[in-house]
Amino acid sequence: MQLVLATANKGKFQEIAAILSDLRISFLSIDSFLGYVPPVESGRTYAENASAKARAAARFAGMWALADDSGLEVDALGGQPGPHSSRFLGPAATDQDRNQRILELLEGIPVERRTASFQCAVALAGPGRELLLTHGVCEGVIAQVPAGVEGFGYDPIFLVPEHGVTMASLPSDLKNRISHRARAIEKTKPLLQGLAFSLPAS
Ligand code: IMP
Repeated sequence: MQLVLATANKGKFQEIAAILSDLRISFLSIDSFLGYVPPVESGRTYAENASAKARAAARFAGMWALADDSGLEVDALGGQPGPHSSRFLGPAATDQDRNQRILELLEGIPVERRTASFQCAVALAGPGRELLLTHGVCEGVIAQVPAGVEGFGYDPIFLVPEHGVTMASLPSDLKNRISHRARAIEKTKPLLQGLAFSLPAS
């Protein structure tokens, strides 16, 4: 079965493909479909945005599509940056700028008030078919300084308490077992497994 991944984020693409690597699926990026214009992420929730991305990609590609919408929620910042995580500080900002800004906003805040979570909604849509929506959460703490080079986005400032290091310091196979994305995608596996057996292999 071929599945379109409705993301232009290479980090996400690799993680989703790795999490689903035990299924008989080959992955295509929506980026390889010429002329595709992704929908504006105007939803108020991760679920709304994931749904819009999966539906648009499935319709355009004429194939099953999976989309993820995710973000970082920092409790001391009232849940910001949340669903706007990729746009936090505007289009010119880098991951490093965003991480630095979060650390500045939390300056002087003690560890017990630096709690945060990664949130992820995953949507699965077929052309004109039912949509499955799942959700996954990974709890953590914002570090004092960035550390680690793995992963992407806010991983260098997100401490995973069970492992005592940042997400960016964990090997990718471990992140892909414990992350918000892994937890949301695991819940799509029964449906994907059924589809993979009922559709022609490729
Ligand atoms: P979107 O889902 O494409 O709107 O963007 C999600 C944004 O949230 C990413 O660009 C990252 O900044 C952040 N994010 C989501 N998942 C992760 C993750 O696994 N690690 C680090 N940052 C993440």
